[in-house]
Amino acid sequence: MNIILFGAPGAGKGTQAKRLVESRGLVQLSTGDMLRAAIGAGTELGLRAKQIMDRGDLVSDEIILGMIAERMDSPDCANGVIFDGFPRTVAQADGLGAMLEECGLAVDHVIEISVDEAALFARIETRAAETGGSRADDNAETLRKRLSVYHESTAPLLPYYADKGLLMTVDGMNSIDEVGQAIDAILG
Ligand code: ADP
Repeated sequence: MNIILFGAPGAGKGTQAKRLVESRGLVQLSTGDMLRAAIGAGTELGLRAKQIMDRGDLVSDEIILGMIAERMDSPDCANGVIFDGFPRTVAQADGLGAMLEECGLAVDHVIEISVDEAALFARIETRAAETGGSRADDNAETLRKRLSVYHESTAPLLPYYADKGLLMTVDGMNSIDEVGQAIDAILG
């Protein structure tokens, strides 16, 4: 089963993805985590991505799709994948669809975790405090930019997947456990 967790920055995708990894043995693919790993390792890709991420912009579709294709080659992905923070553009969604189709697979569920924007600012502030500011993009100014990028480039994926009959929305203002239960109810 291949699942996309969808939502604005701070909606709780990573938290719910980790729950699903534990409960269902799926592999979590977070493009944000992959990029941060590249930054940590000091690779050329990491150096290029850091500047883009720090200002709240999107890394190019080509880089992201290349990263995903490489990771999807690994046999552990055959059991099913939770995509967290990917796709973020229609081009990425098209690329993912083509990649899965080549292996006779498909996106099975797209779950939007919906959260009020005011709450997102509070959550990002909390995360910045908890992580000691280790994520340079966790501040109000960059979050405003990330949200505007989300509305412009990523939100069009909602009708994209709704048209395919794949989209379900859960209320991300509820507790972590309640959101998890709502997701479990959708996945069956
Ligand atoms: P969040 O979900 O909290 O916004 P992520 O950790 O998913 O954060 O991503 C952080 C940053 O990494 C994004 O703002 C963007 O610059 C880059 N990034 C992550 N995933 C993608 C993607 N699929 N396409 C383009 N850029 C991405």
